[in-house]
Amino acid sequence: IDAVRGVEPRIADAIGAELADQRSSLKLIASENYASPATLLAMGNWFSDKYAEGTIGRRFYAGCKNVDTVESIAAEHARELFGARHAYVQPHSGIDANLVAFWSVLAARVEAPALERAQARQVNDLTEADWAELRRDLGNQRMLGMSLDAGGHLTHGFRPNISGKMFEQRSYGTDPATGLLDYAAVREAARAFRPLILIAGYSAYPRRVNFATMREIADEVGATLMVDMAHFAGLVAGKVLTGDYDPVPHAQIVTTTTHKSLRGPRGGMVLCDDPLADQVDRGCPMVLGGPLPHVMAAKAVALAEARQPSFRDYAQRVVDNADALAQGLLRRGGALVTGGTDNHLALIDVSGYGLTGRQAEAALLDAGIVTNRNAIPRDPNGAWYTSGIRVGTPALTTRGVDTDGMDEVAELIHTVLSATTPGTTKNGKPSKAAHTLADGVAEQVRERSADL
Ligand code: PLP
Repeated sequence: IDAVRGVEPRIADAIGAELADQRSSLKLIASENYASPATLLAMGNWFSDKYAEGTIGRRFYAGCKNVDTVESIAAEHARELFGARHAYVQPHSGIDANLVAFWSVLAARVEAPALERAQARQVNDLTEADWAELRRDLGNQRMLGMSLDAGGHLTHGFRPNISGKMFEQRSYGTDPATGLLDYAAVREAARAFRPLILIAGYSAYPRRVNFATMREIADEVGATLMVDMAHFAGLVAGKVLTGDYDPVPHAQIVTTTTHKSLRGPRGGMVLCDDPLADQVDRGCPMVLGGPLPHVMAAKAVALAEARQPSFRDYAQRVVDNADALAQGLLRRGGALVTGGTDNHLALIDVSGYGLTGRQAEAALLDAGIVTNRNAIPRDPNGAWYTSGIRVGTPALTTRGVDTDGMDEVAELIHTVLSATTPGTTKNGKPSKAAHTLADGVAEQVRERSADL
């Protein structure tokens, strides 16, 4: 850090401040974690300087022997850990991994001249007409994914995202009565829409998904089943999600991030069967530029860590902790979407506290509890203000918090939300953003959370 301070002290200060913040707050953001020192150190080294476009043994640059070693080891760990036929570890992020997967499925299933026309098309202006022509080139291919407000991700066909522009898109939601995924409704939607890609996976759905059933549905309509396991990859790696709930044996293609429950560096990865492997390996230059060899080195370290028996114990504790947190919130009168959780996250409906998600998020942050607001199904407050708070346990579990500790976290959350009232705008009108937390509560909660 002294080397950084010598060049740009403000960055050194920001790094120090981030460490202090992460140490002094309760990190409940479901997509965050604490990577190990070994993983962090594997990322900060001379591999950062190397260009290595291409793939293992087939590079567009000389001098890539050491990068080949790193990429091969990372891919080997990924294959072994997840029982996958093929692993591609270059994607820089989850979004990149999804783009590689989309183009790979398109390349496998759309005739080459149409694909080439689409890939050559300039969409620099990003007008709707440009995108419509691109979709036409591709033969108006379709994607069916979980809707954003049911917990899906914006790369699963959300209109403003490139996935919603490359594909004609429909989404499936959850049962209004239970909040649970309704497989019969997914089947019906798939039969009516006949997508090229059926996507399963989520960012804010607090339950397991039955991937065997999703594959059955995909097969019935001739779709490729793609699973985005970005959120729950750590639970798959740790063998908490097995059998019908493990996506790898069921999906033709699986994407993930490496930095959430998997506890690695920021990045993405694609796992697939043999028929898609060659195409996936063309991720660079199809979608990606030069890989990040230093991040691939860190992925290899984190994947090796995830193959240790202790990671299974960690994954089980993540789920046990989420359940303890959910039960603790319910016992104190909180409302949860689907009434609980069986993965690493829970979605609190904060409307019972008379708050929007945005007010709840801000009040919790005042008290050192870091969460994110999140739409709940059919959210009356929309995606910006929301009525929900998403909480997840991967990070606190890494810090060693146990189920008793999670009950205390539930108590702290309930204390803050109960002591918060909505604020008003400058003109004295009710605000969906402003909040007031009763005096002294933030300090009291921070003090209590320091013992966790
Ligand atoms: N897929 C899912 C399900 C996610 O939740 C996320 C991130 O929130 C992503 C993809 C995108 O990951 P990244 O932020 O690394 O691009």
